[in-house]
Parts: sequence; structure tokens; C-alpha cells
Amino acid sequence: MSRRLGVLGGSFDPIHVGHLRSAEEVREAQALESVLFVPAAHPPHKQDRPLTDGALRLRMVELAISDNPSFIASAIEIERGGTSYSVDTLGELRRREPDAELHFIVGMDAFREMHTWRDCERIFELATVVVTDRPPATVDHAIDHLPVAARKSFCYVPGTGSYRHESGGALRFQTITGIDVSATSLRAAIRRGRSVRYLLPPSVERFVIDRELYAKGDDRA
Ligand code: ATP
Repeated sequence: MSRRLGVLGGSFDPIHVGHLRSAEEVREAQALESVLFVPAAHPPHKQDRPLTDGALRLRMVELAISDNPSFIASAIEIERGGTSYSVDTLGELRRREPDAELHFIVGMDAFREMHTWRDCERIFELATVVVTDRPPATVDHAIDHLPVAARKSFCYVPGTGSYRHESGGALRFQTITGIDVSATSLRAAIRRGRSVRYLLPPSVERFVIDRELYAKGDDRA
């Protein structure tokens, strides 16, 4: 039987409980065997500030998921270097494991922008796309939030709660426990010396403190 694999990409600067809980709820609801966490080398949509070194972001992901055998840290984008396009990553994963059923997990904030991503159509050919709540955005009437041109590419599949993209791929929406935390707000809190306890796994919090990550920065941080 082919293995059902989740893929959660992001800058993970740093990884936080919002990412972890999303992956866990999607893993359970979509019956995934594993979820790959893929830190981007250089995300195309976040060029406004320098990211923390990729090796450090990958290390934080490894620390965060080390106690969960269903979660796997992937260096695929960090090793490839350059601008990280999800379509390239999903294509590479498909080549490495042709039988895997890929499930690409994105929060509602990212989904709203997805029609602007490189080869967005191809992403739907390569993977089932699972969209989750990302507070304050919920997946209720999510399709309506897409620009009309992008919306036309999907049709509802009656009785399944999911949509089919014109490329043939599936699009599902999943309600998850909303945790209104972002890496941006965590970096800002750390810079101001505020507590981030319970918003990061303790191992990641310790790593951040030991390495003095995010202690300095400007308003874009
Ligand atoms: P930043 O604040 O630096 O932009 P971020 O917290 O949005 O970062 P990313 O690493 O960019 O985190 O997010 C990667 C993926 O995880 C995206 O699909 C995003 O929608 C999702 N995600 C991030 N935070 C949450 C959250 N709190 N709940 C659900 N999904 C989330």
C-alpha cells in the first residue's frame, strides 16, 4: 500500500506550537503515516528580513519533533539552496518516492496567496492540498476568499467536503484547534524579553536562549 505523507513547509523561524498542532491534527484526520517538516532555504514570499541560518532553523525543527515518531525533519530545501519553491520540493519528493500519496499542508493565510505561487497548478497535480485554519482566518467558506480567477479552477465534489482542481488534484479544508501564534510575534516577544513559555517546545526555547536568537533585531523582525 502506498504511504500517505504530509508535507508542511515554512520558514520555521522559529517552529512553534501552531505548526506542531496543525501537523498533528492533519496527520490524525487524514490518516497520514508521517509528516515531513520542510524548512525553506529562502522563501519567495518573505524577502523583507534576513532569516536565521537554515541549519539553526532545521535544528530547532529536529528538537521540536524529536519525541514524535510520526514527524520527520527534512533538509531537502536547505540542501537545495536558493529560493525554495514548494512545487520543486513536491516534485523531488515524488521522484524519491513515486508511490507516496503526498498531502501538502498549508494554513489559510498561505492558501489565500497560493494562486500567486510558482506553478501552482502543478502543486495540485503532485499533492492533495489540505488547508487548515490559521487564526484569525478560518477555513469557513474558504473558496470565497480566493480571487474569482483562481476560484474558477476548483469544483466542489458533492458529499465529500472537498474540491477538485482542474488539474485533477484534490483540495480539502480542515478545521483545527486555532492557536493564534506566529513566529513574528514570538521573535518580537523574545526581543523585548517577554516570556514565550508554552508557545515553543521547551527544547526549542532553551536553544533560542542558549544561542541568543532573536535577542536583537529591528521592527521587521
Ligand atoms: P512568520 O510569522 O515568520 O511569517 P509563521 O508563524 O507564519 O511565520 P511559517 O513558518 O511561515 O510560520 O508557516 C508555515 C506554515 O505553517 C504556513 O502554511 C502557515 O499557514 C502555517 N502556520 C503557521 N502558524 C500557524 C498557526 N498558528 N496555526 C496554523 N497554521 C500555522
